[in-house]
Amino acid sequence: MMIVMERFCSPEAVEAVVERLESRGCDIHISDGQERIVIGAMGAGTDLEQLPWEAMEGVEKAIPVLKPFTFVSRDFQEEDTIVRVGGVRIGGNRFTVIAGPCAVETRDQLFRTAEQVVKAGATVLRGDAFKPRTSPYAFQGLAEAGLELMAAAREEFGVPFVAEVLDPRDVALVASYADMLRVGTRNMSNYSLLAEVGKQPKPVQLKRGFTATIEDWLHAAETIYKEGNHQIVLVERGIRTFETAARNTLDITAVPVVQRLSHLPIMVDPSHSGGHHYLVAPLAQAAVAVRSSGIMVDVHPSPDTALVDGSQALLPSDFAALMDRVRKLAAAVDLEM
Ligand code: PEP
Ligand code: MN
Repeated sequence: MMIVMERFCSPEAVEAVVERLESRGCDIHISDGQERIVIGAMGAGTDLEQLPWEAMEGVEKAIPVLKPFTFVSRDFQEEDTIVRVGGVRIGGNRFTVIAGPCAVETRDQLFRTAEQVVKAGATVLRGDAFKPRTSPYAFQGLAEAGLELMAAAREEFGVPFVAEVLDPRDVALVASYADMLRVGTRNMSNYSLLAEVGKQPKPVQLKRGFTATIEDWLHAAETIYKEGNHQIVLVERGIRTFETAARNTLDITAVPVVQRLSHLPIMVDPSHSGGHHYLVAPLAQAAVAVRSSGIMVDVHPSPDTALVDGSQALLPSDFAALMDRVRKLAAAVDLEM
């Protein structure tokens, strides 16, 4: 249910609507746009739509919501959400580049990568301390020691960082270091993790589950949003299809579809989509052309020795060359960098 208030309605009128909804046990979020206030309500009381909302002072119209996700939808909030990661803005007319190693391995590996990607123009650093691996014997990440190294790199190079969190029990730990938390593809439907990241204040990157429809994905975002955290960036990272030539199939169509359905920014991960280094630049360029909110790219100083995802990592020099092309393309489609 969405209640659209009249322009310049009084705070008391808003309060009266909120109280009435609360008395019905609804979950409420208020979108205070430039044009007008919209009150979104989810939950209990199937008779909600039968109440004479439009008879209440200050109410322009009451709209029953057909789409199952409410708060993350464009119907609820027309303006783009701008997500703030440290001092960096993601969303709106801006194209943001996040880069760094897939996993933090050593101080030297991280610092060499960070120095180069920042010099080339990345404004947010990536580097995971907890890695979801198919084999339980593969490198699982450095855990807290990895987060400490990321925090040291932030100091040294002056950029905020994003790191993955795998377990609800680690949310507080990762949030105490990172500027942004990431929920990866394997955890997109882990509702206890989504709720936990929704309860803490750091912005969240939500990757698309590799078998998730766009609707499933927006439901997952809604789960975070309704817990109170509205700073969410969606990341398209490729889906499983019958095609085996690439690690996943980048669903570039998802970008304009999500932009139509939701006010949340959507970025593209060309590294995990393609899974091969030769695919990263073309897919990254497609992400600019389609006017997504940015890209996240795996970079490693020696991909042949990488402990995780070496085959898709770019050398710092290749990343710098990609950045030159990204800047030109962004200008051509009126995106700021
Ligand atoms: C990652 O970004 O390192 C990662 C594990 O990605 P995904 O969850 O998309 O596989
Ligand atoms: Mn990876």
